[in-house]
Amino acid sequence: MNAEKRNVLLQVKLLALGGDGIGPEILAEGLRVADALAAKAGLTLNVEHDLLHGASWDVHRTFCRPEVLDKARDANAILVGAVGGPKWDNIRMPGGAECQDGLMYLRHHLQTYLGLRPARAWQSLLHHTPFRRGLADRANVLILREMCGGAMFARERGQRQVNGVRQGYDLTAYDEDEIARFAHGGFQLARGRRGKIVSCDKSNVMESYKLWREVVSEVATQYPDVEFENMFADNCAYQLMCRPEDFDVVLSCNQLGDILSDLTAVYSGSLGMLPSACLSANPEGGPVFGVYESTSGSAPDIAGQGIANPIGMILSVGMMFEYTLVRPDLAKALEQAVEQVLADGIMTRDLGGTADSVSVTDAILERLSG
Ligand code: NAD
Ligand code: MN
Repeated sequence: MNAEKRNVLLQVKLLALGGDGIGPEILAEGLRVADALAAKAGLTLNVEHDLLHGASWDVHRTFCRPEVLDKARDANAILVGAVGGPKWDNIRMPGGAECQDGLMYLRHHLQTYLGLRPARAWQSLLHHTPFRRGLADRANVLILREMCGGAMFARERGQRQVNGVRQGYDLTAYDEDEIARFAHGGFQLARGRRGKIVSCDKSNVMESYKLWREVVSEVATQYPDVEFENMFADNCAYQLMCRPEDFDVVLSCNQLGDILSDLTAVYSGSLGMLPSACLSANPEGGPVFGVYESTSGSAPDIAGQGIANPIGMILSVGMMFEYTLVRPDLAKALEQAVEQVLADGIMTRDLGGTADSVSVTDAILERLSG
């Protein structure tokens, strides 16, 4: 982000990309909350809307137009609903992941490498999780997912015939700079939390993960105040379920982070509860550019019914206030309003309630203004 952008944060430029399925529905609720928080902060939000992924494909035959990338570069932050759906999942375009998926196009070109996916337990939803009482009651884990490299962004990818048999391949590659910038972000974030990091990998079997472990361990020596441990990813997934409260920050590559973040959503009672942020620089307390989105997908099974849980998206707006607008106090106030709404039993069907997306947001807005 350039200096000019830093100085104009009283006038905030937001790019809003609803995407597909429940994406536009939850984004609309997120924007209502963004307006309310902006009013509290004395900020003016200038929101521009555009199309992403399937919605863009249907009109423009591309998952993300270069004009959208230009608007993204000009914005202070981007809010994304969700992308994808059966209609578009098997369209193949020449090139890497950034050519197959509108969101990955933005991540790649904006280099938003630091993916924050916080998962926490909510007192009012403990009964809705598969954990026995006392095991995950205070779970509060930040899964950090590397967003711009690894197997998912393989340059060498495709399908071919080898000895008359079909073979699919995605070359997993990470260079040390990619790993180091990401690890630094993790250690800095851990300092603002409980000061503990587990980095997970499969360095017991894979070469790319051997370098991952080596580089993360080197970075760790610069943060002697942070408690650091390497763990094999399969064991890490198991331990995250056996003793959730022992974990604080978990560092993982793009693919493992994708899986672990959906896994830890179990602490929260629903995938629809999970916010996320993809930052293009380490926070260190200053404003950073970010793409803020719910962690879940476009949930085609419930799209168009107005029943999607908007809380993941709404908490993503909270993360925008924390990291881009540097108002962590407002993010906290929002989280407390969500806690109250859940305590009052106002919740969507995925949490066992009967409220629709709009009523949940109304209730959050009411408690925010009270
Ligand atoms: P999904 O995350 O969309 O849905 C998984 C399950 O969680 C479904 O039962 C869904 O109804 C439920 N769910 C998710 N969000 C919810 C919410 N806010 N409220 C209530 N319930 C919710 O995963 P999927 O079905 O495997 O994928 C659907 C599409 O989403 C695919 O095209 C996939 O590629 C895409 N996808 C997009 C993103 C993204 O936009 N960041 C992430 C993952 C998957
Ligand atoms: Mn995912």
